[in-house]
Amino acid sequence: MNLKFIFYFCFTNLLFLHLNIFADEKIKKDNFRFAEPVQLGITFDDLPAAGPDATFINRQEISDKIIKSLKDNKIPYVYGFINGILLYDTEVQKKIFSDWKNAGYLLANHTFSHLNLSRVTAEEYIKDIEKNDTILIDYASTINELKVFRYPYLMEGDSLDKRYAVRSYFKKRNYKIAQVSVDSGDWDFNEAFIRCKQLNMEDKTQEIIENYIKNTAEVLIYNNSLSKFIYGANRKIPQVLLVHYNSINAFAMNQLIDKFKKMNVVFIPAAKAFNDNIFQEDSALAMNNGIPYFEQVRRSHKLKFTDYPFPKDYSSWLKDQCQK
Ligand SMILES: [Zn+2]
Repeated sequence: MNLKFIFYFCFTNLLFLHLNIFADEKIKKDNFRFAEPVQLGITFDDLPAAGPDATFINRQEISDKIIKSLKDNKIPYVYGFINGILLYDTEVQKKIFSDWKNAGYLLANHTFSHLNLSRVTAEEYIKDIEKNDTILIDYASTINELKVFRYPYLMEGDSLDKRYAVRSYFKKRNYKIAQVSVDSGDWDFNEAFIRCKQLNMEDKTQEIIENYIKNTAEVLIYNNSLSKFIYGANRKIPQVLLVHYNSINAFAMNQLIDKFKKMNVVFIPAAKAFNDNIFQEDSALAMNNGIPYFEQVRRSHKLKFTDYPFPKDYSSWLKDQCQK
């Protein structure tokens, strides 16, 4: 991404757009609709088994339900990011990967052991990526499909040395980085969802699903506004959703997709979204926490964005739900 380009748009935003283009996007909670269609690519992390096990559904059933929701809603070319360590070398792992591929979706790399780049060396990290490739190679249809990487925890390195050691490996090997713009935070909702459902607290379970959908919708609205603020209202900006291959999505995916449709969201192939030029800038940040892409760009250019407060943080509410 050309820096002049970015600064030009930031400057014009500050002058002309900042105060009024979002007037139609004030969040009217339940019936919010984007004035223009918003393109969204869907990605799932931690195949074949994200989050804790549940007593009420097994991993094959979770997979079946998620794939059915995606197929029923005709969501195109969803990308799944795998950790080989999950259900390693079992029939369940193999079946879930084959089912995913047979449904017409894609698989790529998320490290074998779901490593956090702030906790290991770049060398260990790269070794783990290569180990994961030995599993992926059995499923990938093309080399382009295989050479895509999603950072676990969205952590791209706690030092610039590490960041660029891994990035230069990617460059040499032609890997593309699959950035995330809309982090659903579903892993946090999933844990409370499992606790409540295992205690047969159906009302609570429904409340958690409703808040999960509401939160994800608000994170999308926020990032759509933030990205328009950065790049200008006229740039078509695809968004990339991160969700996990977990229990809550087995039960909530239809409702989540339905909510997006009502918001004027159009589903596009995930790779079309994360391969858009807009996602190719290197924010050059050392990270202590994972940061979604547009927030990286905002920080990297030290822009102030205050149009919306960031969506409500549900984490302390979730922690309190269905504790024995
Ligand atoms: Zn992950």
